[in-house]
Amino acid sequence: RSGILAGKRGLILGLANNRSIAWGIAKAAYEAGAELAFTFQGESLEKRVRPLAAELGGIVLGHCDVTDAATLDAAFAEIERSWGRLDFIVHCVAFSDKDQLTGRYVDTTAENFSNSLLISCYSFTAVAQRAEKLMAHGGSMLTLTYYGAEKWMPHYNVMGVAKAALEASVRYLAADLGEKNIRINAISAGPIKTLAASGIGDFRYILKWNEYNAPLRRSVTIEEVGESAVFLLSPMARGVTGEILHVDAGYHIVGMKNPAAPDI
Ligand code: NAD
Repeated sequence: RSGILAGKRGLILGLANNRSIAWGIAKAAYEAGAELAFTFQGESLEKRVRPLAAELGGIVLGHCDVTDAATLDAAFAEIERSWGRLDFIVHCVAFSDKDQLTGRYVDTTAENFSNSLLISCYSFTAVAQRAEKLMAHGGSMLTLTYYGAEKWMPHYNVMGVAKAALEASVRYLAADLGEKNIRINAISAGPIKTLAASGIGDFRYILKWNEYNAPLRRSVTIEEVGESAVFLLSPMARGVTGEILHVDAGYHIVGMKNPAAPDI
């Protein structure tokens, strides 16, 4: 196969269905020539992930819950057996109790705080620890974040705090692993209607607000995030690490509502 990722083998975590950002990235990476491996979280997602992986000739490693170290170890052991090495990983995993993605951040419980940070932030580090061992010749690791890490966004609450920690961890991991030529970056995607996004209060309003106020006057697609991800995963970005790349139709540069925007 040819393409900028030809000969590269990558693991994609966080595929749920064909609306997932992980799917946009998987399709673009496949088009660019990569060989892919996938995990799924639980039986109900297995039914969706297996046919999608098959469409791209990918291998399915099995169930992997990032809060369960044994399932992470098993996935990496399987990669080592099948491929012996890894060139990139894509981490598209986040979770918070839906009840706390509405209302006030100040009401977050200790339990949901720990769980959200564990799944949405620490899991990227847990994956990096395991992937490092399979990247003797360098590699690229990518995670997904959101503007709610930088600025207050309605209802994003504890997830904004988790994403801020995730973005900081991108910088610390980049510094730790740089000497092994392992690059760590994140894409800060604009709002996209996915399963995870449907848990966020007033998501439709946030999406519309972005469309009316972003410089490109629209939202972004999983395909656009996918193509930017290919750049970061590929040798074209060999000089880029510790970076948060905004793929958000430019929304993050805006300081004020577009006066011409209609009411939502
Ligand atoms: P999605 O629902 O398609 O994907 C979320 C994935 O996280 C699912 O596959 C789910 O199985 C996985 N996951 C959750 N808890 C897990 C656990 N304990 N173990 C293993 N996997 C677990 O939604 P998405 O929007 O494609 O989300 C992918 C990433 O993109 C997330 O990090 C999300 O925060 C981020 N993101 C999304 C948007 C958006 O608007 N959709 C914007 C910016 C960033």
